[in-house]
Amino acid sequence: MIYLDHNATTDIHPQVLRKVNEVIDLGPINPSSTHSNGQIGKRLLQESRNYILSLLGLRLNDNDYRVIFTSSGTEANNLIISSFKNYEIFISAIEHSSIYIYTKYIKNITVIKVNKQGVLDINDLTSKLKNSSFSKKIVSVMFANNETGIIQPIKEICKVAHRYRALVHSDCVQAMGKVDVNISNIKIDCASISGHKFGAPMGVGALIVRNSIDNLIPQIIGGGQERSLRAGTENVPSIVGLGIASKVAKDELKDRFHYMSRLRSRLENGLLATNDSIEIVGAGVPRLPNTSLILHSNKTSETQLIALDLRGVSVSSGSACSSGTSYSSHVLLAMGYTKNKLDTAFRVSLGIGTTDKEIDKFITIYNEINE
Ligand code: PLP
Repeated sequence: MIYLDHNATTDIHPQVLRKVNEVIDLGPINPSSTHSNGQIGKRLLQESRNYILSLLGLRLNDNDYRVIFTSSGTEANNLIISSFKNYEIFISAIEHSSIYIYTKYIKNITVIKVNKQGVLDINDLTSKLKNSSFSKKIVSVMFANNETGIIQPIKEICKVAHRYRALVHSDCVQAMGKVDVNISNIKIDCASISGHKFGAPMGVGALIVRNSIDNLIPQIIGGGQERSLRAGTENVPSIVGLGIASKVAKDELKDRFHYMSRLRSRLENGLLATNDSIEIVGAGVPRLPNTSLILHSNKTSETQLIALDLRGVSVSSGSACSSGTSYSSHVLLAMGYTKNKLDTAFRVSLGIGTTDKEIDKFITIYNEINE
C-alpha cells in the first residue's frame, strides 16, 4: 500500500508512541486529583504546554499565551469562532469547514476573497476592515490550506488587522510540523492546532491564545479543567503525545522541510514530464512542502481515486476531513475554477516517512491508469 494522504491524518511518530505508552503504563492519572498520581498528571500537562509554546516560537512558561487542550482542531476552531459572535468576524473564502460552516449560523461574518493563486486578497481585507461599522473585530485566516497547501501571508494579514484593531486567529492545523509557525514573530493572537496531523494520536488538539483574550465561551461545560474553558477529564496520554510531537517537530523541522520539498518536486516533475493532461494548483506560490493538488483535463477525481485505490494507492479528493466522499470544493471555487475542473481534483500529501521509491511507484501507477 502506498499511503499519500498525510494531510488527512499521518502516522504517530515513534518517539511519541513510546512516550504515550510509558504514560499509559504509569496507570490511572487524573490531573485534577490532589494525590501524587494527580500531581504527575499536572506536570505532564504543563510539560506538553511548554513544548507546544516552544514550537510556536514562544518562550517556555511564556506568560503572554496559554494553551487550552481540546479534542481536535475542529473543536479549537469552534471554540474561537463561537466566542466572538458579537464581533465582526472576517474569514477567508478558503477556510476549513470547521470555520467556514459558521457563515450559516453567524450573521456578522464577512468573507474575504482569495486571488486566482489561492492567496488572500489583502486589498479586499483592508477595505472591508476599513468599512466595518463594528468596534470589535477578529480576522481568522488559515496558515496553510489543507487542500492546496497554499501558504497565506499571515504576517501581512496581522499587520493590516492590527492596524484596524482587529484580533487575528489562524488555523495552523496543516502548517504545524511542516513549516515554521512562529506566532511570536508573526504576532498571531490565537492559533488552532491538531495532534493527528503531525505525529500525535487522534483525539487531541489545542487552542493557543493570548492571555489578554478573556472572552472565550466554553462549549463543553462542567468541571474546572483548562481554567473552565474545556470541561472534562483531560486525555493525558494523547496530550503528552501532542507535546512530544511538538518537541520532535521542532528538532526535525528543517530536515523535514527539505526532505518533503525534494520528494514533492520529484513527484510533480515526474508527473508533469509524462502527462500533458494535468495541472498543479498553486504551483507558482509558496506551498506546504508535502502537498500537491492535481487537476486533470478530463478525468474526474472519483475515477482516478478508485483506479488508484485498486492499485493500493491512497490519495484524497479535496478536503482531508470530508470522509472520502467527492464533493465540490469551496476552495477551488473561490479560486475561480469551474465546477467541471474542480471535479477532477485529487490531492497527494506526503508524510515524513514517504520514500523516493513510493513516489516513483506512484508515478508509474498514475501513468498506467491514464494509458
Ligand atoms: N483545519 C484544517 C486546516 C484541517 O485540515 C483540519 C482537518 O483536516 C481541521 C482544521 C480539523 O482538524 P481535526 O481533524 O483535528 O478536527
